Amino acid sequence: MFIDSHCHLDFPDFQTDLDQVLADAKTSGVGLMLTIGTKLRQIAPVIALADAHPQVWCTVGVHPHEAGAEEGGCTLQRLLELSAHPKVVGFGETGLDFFYDHSPRDAQERLLRIHCQAARHAGLPLVVHTRDADADIRRILADEMANGVFTGLIHCFSSGLQLAEFAIEIGFFVSFSGILTFKKAEALQDVARQVPLDRILIETDSPYLAPMPFRGKRNQPAYVPRVAAKLAELKGLPIAEVERQTTANFHRLFTKVAA
Ligand SMILES: [Zn+2]
Ligand SMILES: [Zn+2]
Repeated sequence: MFIDSHCHLDFPDFQTDLDQVLADAKTSGVGLMLTIGTKLRQIAPVIALADAHPQVWCTVGVHPHEAGAEEGGCTLQRLLELSAHPKVVGFGETGLDFFYDHSPRDAQERLLRIHCQAARHAGLPLVVHTRDADADIRRILADEMANGVFTGLIHCFSSGLQLAEFAIEIGFFVSFSGILTFKKAEALQDVARQVPLDRILIETDSPYLAPMPFRGKRNQPAYVPRVAAKLAELKGLPIAEVERQTTANFHRLFTKVAA
């Protein structure tokens, strides 16, 4: 069984055919999906979706794009309250996005630190998004770790080897998406070759970033085996081995998910 460790099933892209999307995932051997929260003001549908489907679990948090005025009200207490729900198994996605800069950088950092605190208090992993912000992500995560350890992953990994090594050093995992299958992703493919398989998760980030040969179309969890296949090719391993190990890794990190 494959696991899609990061998708956004509550997005409007899936509104009309979610049942079909879930059926296609099952047909493709994707037995478990983690749908990721991006805004607290719309977190209820995310949790409801996980509640309605045994194979779907979720996280709660505020995407760095949303860290502006309205979601600035995200508090440690609110995150912890939400995480009491049995299908909520982690926090995020949180992090820094200095490529788009959709919200002020200081607000992004403030919210990232609140999510780190939540992860530490609840003992649940953190789903980290980072774009063009590697130095600051390292600074903040190292800083927060010094206050007490917590677990997590860098999702949709697209940075260099240095950040991957840092992530592993602090006990984090690295999650690869369909970007790995893109023709111009040689640098990222090199990173994937060097990250030990026992630290890797796979994801789609649906509805974005469909892997080859679906690039440009709507992505969906059924495509996550394409990421596994690319990883298997890069590492010279059978896909079954990548499937087994990434699934085991997911359960090592997301300990609240029933196996
Ligand atoms: Zn993201
Ligand atoms: Zn995402």
